[in-house]
Amino acid sequence: MKALVLKDYGRFAVEDFPVPELQPDEVLVRVRACGICGSDVHGMDGSTGRRIPPIVMGHEAAGEIAEVSGAVTGWKPGDRVTFDSTVSCGECWFCQRGNVNLCENRRVLGVSCGEYRRHGAFAEFVAVPQRILYRLPDNLSFDQAAMVEAVSVAVHAVKRTPLAADGVALVVGTGMIGLLVVQALRAAGCAEVIENRLRLALKLGATQILRADDATWLDKVRARTGGRGVDAAFEVVGLPQTVKTTIESVRKGGSVTLVGNLKPQVDLPLQAVVTRELTLIGTCASAGEYPECLELIASGKINVTEFISATPPLAEGAQWFERLHAGEPGLMKVLLKP
Ligand SMILES: [Zn+2]
Ligand SMILES: [Zn+2]
Repeated sequence: MKALVLKDYGRFAVEDFPVPELQPDEVLVRVRACGICGSDVHGMDGSTGRRIPPIVMGHEAAGEIAEVSGAVTGWKPGDRVTFDSTVSCGECWFCQRGNVNLCENRRVLGVSCGEYRRHGAFAEFVAVPQRILYRLPDNLSFDQAAMVEAVSVAVHAVKRTPLAADGVALVVGTGMIGLLVVQALRAAGCAEVIENRLRLALKLGATQILRADDATWLDKVRARTGGRGVDAAFEVVGLPQTVKTTIESVRKGGSVTLVGNLKPQVDLPLQAVVTRELTLIGTCASAGEYPECLELIASGKINVTEFISATPPLAEGAQWFERLHAGEPGLMKVLLKP
């Protein structure tokens, strides 16, 4: 099969690669679309240490089952599927409780980090265990389905956050995940969603946008919330200033959900958190929300097509990685088509 192989940091080749051999509980998926994730872009230059070459990256994919191994039940060739980006073990203490995102033995597809190397979906075929497979609704395209991981991050973050239906939420961060959080909040029935900065947010369900460089933004948040601040705020950036901003925006007794982590460490306004009795919530990946997310996309409650910038063939992968790595403005999700 053809695969896009990271041969060396910053250097790709599309070349012949062995079709993955199946374990008894695995299926072979013919990949129809696979998204380039930020973690792939940061991984290709060696800065994260999680894409040690040679590796076939790619964990945000959808396709059809081409082959099923001996112990697989309930799936057959031709089934349209997507799968969790994380291969959880299904057996550890966390998996037993449904916290598959916290699995002790989690392995991400398309990652090679010293502990393990698991080839991913920038290839014609990828091997996936049955327990992380999900069936696609008939009206969902492969391209839409390849966006489900990002949607699930947003939906999981919203699920982890206590929020009354008449609540007001603020989303800080205008990247794709931030805009998906806006949509997930609306889909969950949150009455008012304020987003800072981007006009697209209005189209996707925000009721107000604020500019981060507007010195009076906090006054505007308070004016909208009886002087109290928002009930819940989502930090979808992960920088010291935005974490501070997010915490300032919340009312006493409110919650701050931390999604972004561009920096591994930030200063925390400890006294504000303690004396205002804030709840800080960390959230990572997702845990079983895929079926719900696929329905949200299929029903149009969450729009993902706004974020798909290009769908080039796998053979053009290297140049698209380059453009994403250079931070080309306006470029959001690129889906490679093997
Ligand atoms: Zn990803
Ligand atoms: Zn586990």
